[in-house]
Amino acid sequence: PELINQIAAGEVVERPASVVKELLENSLDAGARRIDIEIEQGGIRLIRIRDDGAGIPRDELLAALSSHSTSKIAAIEDLQAIASLGFRGEALPSIASVSRLLLSSRTAAADSGWRIAGDGAERVREPEPVPHPLGTTVEVRDLFYNTPARRKFLRSERTEFSHLDDVVRRLAVSHFDVAFSLAHNGRPLLRLPVAGERMAQEQRIAELAGGEFIAQALHLDQQVAGLHLWGWIGLPTAARAQADRQYFFVNGRMVRDRLIAHAVRQAYADVLFHGRHPAFVLFLELDPKLVDVNAHPAKHEVRFREGRLVHDCLFRTLHEVLARTRA
Ligand code: ADP
Ligand code: MG
Repeated sequence: PELINQIAAGEVVERPASVVKELLENSLDAGARRIDIEIEQGGIRLIRIRDDGAGIPRDELLAALSSHSTSKIAAIEDLQAIASLGFRGEALPSIASVSRLLLSSRTAAADSGWRIAGDGAERVREPEPVPHPLGTTVEVRDLFYNTPARRKFLRSERTEFSHLDDVVRRLAVSHFDVAFSLAHNGRPLLRLPVAGERMAQEQRIAELAGGEFIAQALHLDQQVAGLHLWGWIGLPTAARAQADRQYFFVNGRMVRDRLIAHAVRQAYADVLFHGRHPAFVLFLELDPKLVDVNAHPAKHEVRFREGRLVHDCLFRTLHEVLARTRA
């Protein structure tokens, strides 16, 4: 089973940033209102994420670290087939198989916290009592310490941290109702309180995407044909870095989609903002039945039922807002 988890890990866990993404999504799934992230050496040495979510009952800790589909996968020889099974329920076991992992948690019903270790190739041990506030802490040390071939592919501490930082920023932009903090090598880098009002949201965006962007950005909030499009679009600047400040969320999920990118690019180009690098933070909300956000979670692709409609609505709305700035 360890080997199988390590194979699955090849799919889920590419680098520290992918660990952080999986852990943050788990915390958000658990209804966390505050998430604290501590990183050492770009996440290679340590990733520690604490949340105040619902927690994991003592009796479920072991299951959380064990692969649920071990018996099924064991029968499959084709690695492609394993990849196609997807990652559901595979994240924690995969991460545990390539790191030294500690999972500590406490639910509201329990009068103590419990901790379990999933230590690389070693077997997962029984939970032991540990003081812990309501919620969960996952500590991932020494990523890929037992898979040297994978470890070799890690880049410098700085590069790994910048990927990880990007994951945190993208998730923080899309969850205004959750407080986040991020520290690297003991240095606090982000401290984001819950942002309920538009002013607070703009403050958070200033912190995540730069003050210059939000200072000149246009706010929009429009409902068209069952689509709700809102957020901030910036006037393009010559700064190439702006290309990194393009955030698009569909029903709360970050996406990088060709159709969307095309509609946005067209809208800017049409108002004659050619060859520049627009920054934007946009949220598109629509009937979940009209979009499949799980088409390829790792690649951030989505599939729209009414692609044409989405494209045209997006284009027309952005076009209208941008054209106003030229009037
Ligand atoms: P998945 O998220 O696909 O269910 P994971 O391997 O990421 O699989 O997590 C396994 C299980 O562990 C989750 O289904 C959840 O029950 C529990 N879990 C993981 N992280 C947390 C957390 N931060 N808070 C509460 N429960 C968690
Ligand atoms: Mg998960």
